Formats: sequence, C-alpha cells, structure tokens
Amino acid sequence: MIEEQTEDFKRRNIVHSDLGFLCLECGTRLGHYHSIRNHVVERHIDTGASFRCPNCHHISNTKRKIRSHISKAHPQLRITDVELLRDG
Ligand SMILES: [Zn+2]
Ligand SMILES: [Zn+2]
Repeated sequence: MIEEQTEDFKRRNIVHSDLGFLCLECGTRLGHYHSIRNHVVERHIDTGASFRCPNCHHISNTKRKIRSHISKAHPQLRITDVELLRDG
C-alpha cells in the first residue's frame, strides 16, 4: 500500500531534469534517484506509523507533523530525538 502510494506520488510530483529530480510538492531537489523514495515516504506519505512527542503525549502519524508540533510546543527540544521514537 505504501509502495503504491509512493509510486503514485512519484508519477505525479517528481520531475527529472539535468539538475536531478525535483519534488513539485515541496520544491526539494534530489540528486539521486534512490533518494526520492526516502524523501517521498518520509515527507509526503502517510505510512500509518506513529511518532510520539518525547516531551508530552502528543502522537502523530507522520514525522513531519510531529516535527512541527515540537517546533511549536517545545522549541528547546532537539528534533533529532524524534527519530528514536518510531515504533512501526
Ligand atoms: Zn517533497
Ligand atoms: Zn509535545
């Protein structure tokens, strides 16, 4: 299911040019094809995995949302701490 979503997203939003691969959704430019899947899955696909805020009980299904929660609610917290909390 995630693979299908990822492929679909790539078809619609990733453009290949001499400069590399451009994500139309967020404007990120990627130099290598193998970076695309990681980028798309991490930034644009809801994987159903849950990410928990290390500083409160806030739970989100995307890393992006939990990052934005942390930057607003706990600006003193290091975002990288969130990487450790993935449980799916
Ligand atoms: Zn993107
Ligand atoms: Zn929090």
